[in-house]
Amino acid sequence: MDPYTLLGLAPNADVQEVKRAFRRLAMRWHPDRNSDPAALEHFKVLRAAYDHLVAIIESDAYQADSDVAPDEANRTDSADTSASSGPRGQDRVQDISLELEEAFFGCNRKVTLDTLSTCEVCDGSGHEALSYSQLCADCHGSGRTRSHAGLAKCVACDGQGYTRTRTCSGCEGSGSVGVPRTLSVKIPPGLLSDDWLRVAGEGEPSDDPLGTPGDLKLRLTIAPHPLYSLQGRNLVVDRPMSAFRMLIGGEIQVPVPDGIETVTIEPGEPCIREMRVPNAGFPGRRSEPRGDLLIRLRPVFPSLADDKLHKMIVSLERVLASDPARHLSPVDNWEVRWLGETHR
Ligand SMILES: [Zn+2]
Ligand SMILES: [Zn+2]
Repeated sequence: MDPYTLLGLAPNADVQEVKRAFRRLAMRWHPDRNSDPAALEHFKVLRAAYDHLVAIIESDAYQADSDVAPDEANRTDSADTSASSGPRGQDRVQDISLELEEAFFGCNRKVTLDTLSTCEVCDGSGHEALSYSQLCADCHGSGRTRSHAGLAKCVACDGQGYTRTRTCSGCEGSGSVGVPRTLSVKIPPGLLSDDWLRVAGEGEPSDDPLGTPGDLKLRLTIAPHPLYSLQGRNLVVDRPMSAFRMLIGGEIQVPVPDGIETVTIEPGEPCIREMRVPNAGFPGRRSEPRGDLLIRLRPVFPSLADDKLHKMIVSLERVLASDPARHLSPVDNWEVRWLGETHR
């Protein structure tokens, strides 16, 4: 039997149509899906017809391509080879953005993939059969259209003036439709921006019905966070702090994604300073250990809006000025050197 007829195809079918037709028939006749012993025999016949047609079409395509530039021909050739010989489908790459907390703890993340599947309205042909004849819209029934070379046979209706098919409304003639598919992907804790996560078997389907699909490769980005930033696995928190509190020292609290960290500050100068809490940062992964927590302290001086506070600071300043050598030695040294003892 003619291989085109076997696969239900017109004699001018292209390689995509052949693959699509075979995939559709394989769903019905593949031994995994059809336990009838006759099904296996029929599947083998279909498979032979498919291999035969693909080989013919590709050798035609190669001949047609052989006068183009060599690199162009190689590209066509290698694209065809990868499409027909590899039993495994292509990998699919998708970006996903995680909140910092999601990356910290790990999470189950819904990922929506847009997968192409055969249009059910037209069964992949791109056309819908009409139950009535319709006047051809291109030639208005004349069967001929005007071109730069004069009148020519109308391509849309093949010169008939009417059609019994129209472009499929389900797929606009492409034969396939995008079907959103949602997966739940388990994100382990401790992944960072630019890490990849591979989900086996969720990539593109193989062109070969016996082949396996490719993998889904997710590229991660951690979205900016209003409080935390990351330096590698170190978790950085900026914290404003009373300048007087920095002078006195004591305990402060710093939020971290998994709770609150209490840190003791040594008395010291009220200036920007960084404290490190080892092993309290972003979780480790595989051989990489957990990061540190870095706290950047920023001194804040009181604003003088308040009368009472103003008076207290004025009297504090008097106390400091009464013995500058003790309380404000850099100021005192500077003044003695550049203004002399007389300024007092
Ligand atoms: Zn026409
Ligand atoms: Zn369709």
